[in-house]
Amino acid sequence: MGSGQVTDWQGKHVTVAGLGVSGVPAARALHGLGAEVTVVNDGDDARAREQAAELEALGVTVRLGDGETLPDGTELIVTAPGWRPDKPLFAAADRAGVPVWGDVELAWRLRGPDAAPWLAVTGTNGKTTTVQMLASILEAAGLRTAAVGNIGVSLLDAVLGEERYDVLAVELSSYQLHWAPSLRAHSAAVLNLAPDHLDWHGSMEAYARDKGRVYEGNRVACVYNADATGKPSTEDLVREADVEEGCRAVGFTLGAPGPSQLGVVEGILVDRAFVENRQRNAQELAEVSDVNPPAPHNIANALAAAALARAYGVPASAVRDGLRAFTPDAHRIAHVADVDGVTYIDDSKATNTHAAEASLAAYDSIVWIAGGLAKGATFDELVGGAAKRLRGAVLIGRDRALIREALARHAPEVPVVDLGRTDTGAMLQAVQEAQRLARPGDTVLLAPACASMDMFANYNKRGDAFAQAVRELGA
Ligand code: ADP
Repeated sequence: MGSGQVTDWQGKHVTVAGLGVSGVPAARALHGLGAEVTVVNDGDDARAREQAAELEALGVTVRLGDGETLPDGTELIVTAPGWRPDKPLFAAADRAGVPVWGDVELAWRLRGPDAAPWLAVTGTNGKTTTVQMLASILEAAGLRTAAVGNIGVSLLDAVLGEERYDVLAVELSSYQLHWAPSLRAHSAAVLNLAPDHLDWHGSMEAYARDKGRVYEGNRVACVYNADATGKPSTEDLVREADVEEGCRAVGFTLGAPGPSQLGVVEGILVDRAFVENRQRNAQELAEVSDVNPPAPHNIANALAAAALARAYGVPASAVRDGLRAFTPDAHRIAHVADVDGVTYIDDSKATNTHAAEASLAAYDSIVWIAGGLAKGATFDELVGGAAKRLRGAVLIGRDRALIREALARHAPEVPVVDLGRTDTGAMLQAVQEAQRLARPGDTVLLAPACASMDMFANYNKRGDAFAQAVRELGA
């Protein structure tokens, strides 16, 4: 069961590691193919029991409360992407020579012989926005497509379902890529690369290596961020990848594009990669004002989406139509309200410093609401870069001291209110404090640079709490 297509699942002993959004459909699919499936799960709460009962009714064995012991006879593990590679279960699998696949690897292996090719997107930030833009462009070209993967739509469902697709726009997380050794996309993009989830991956090198896997075996184009300066850069990852003969490296830039790049010239998104005679010619794709919102980081997302669509052969007019038809998801630089001349913006989805940096760069005078779970990040660079634009800061959440200390080091003159709270109700007080600090013309920006789970179920709930608090100010 190493490489190659597995066609006979009858009687194979497969252990599915983790219930939940990927584990339950995986167990069901494998059971349907005739495998002997055992699900192991660390937790044993009410939700897990409910899911277990559902699977047991089909004839799947479920072991709750022990996700570490390798079941006897296991020939393959299919793991939930979030399970850390340093778990004892995987050490046991390694000793026993048992391969480990993630949900993406399973979907890749189970797809049919004439399956739709994948256009894959990864990166630290902008993945969801970019795959949605990409799907919108592909749709505008009249193609049957869907935005799937880490975005909340199961790849397994897309691959095994009734619906026929021409091409899929696939969002992949670094976790999913870690567990997807044989995935080979038609074309792929790494949008950007900044430290995130380092506690999971162990190091920046390991994180970059997992992101870089998306380029392995690409057939038509490896799309990289020509403006990214970090080490390794996304272009370095392209160079290290083993791709199909004839596959091209295509850069995107917010500046004027060189040959084999997409970029911006006088407010126009232009393509110098997928045109005849790229030394001399360029193709106009869309105007910057077609991108919603037209913030610099989002124009970069649009260029990456356009590059993948053009790699697939989509005409320029579809890029423009698709971008115009696209509206961003909630909690991504969403305008909530203007109250007494102050604008309130919800970027709850800024769950890491790199994302927060992009949104802080988009406003001139900001009262910043930040804090939560830092996931091993440091805040010196973020705070240093934004210091000039900060009117004040209000801190919430468990790891707020890290941000407070960075503010003291790099922005000592900026007033800081540390609420010292990690309860859900703190958001109302945070917004009230922000209102007190703000002057007319300022922006109160929720861009926490941290994950939300210390205070909220997820970033959606955090953004909802912010919007609710703003509405109470207005009332
Ligand atoms: P992801 O799916 O990678 O988490 P999203 O599209 O949901 O990405 O956006 C996440 C956050 O990152 C948003 O808060 C947004 O402001 C910010 N962001 C989006 N695109 C970029 C980008 N290209 N560079 C930096 N930050 C970005």
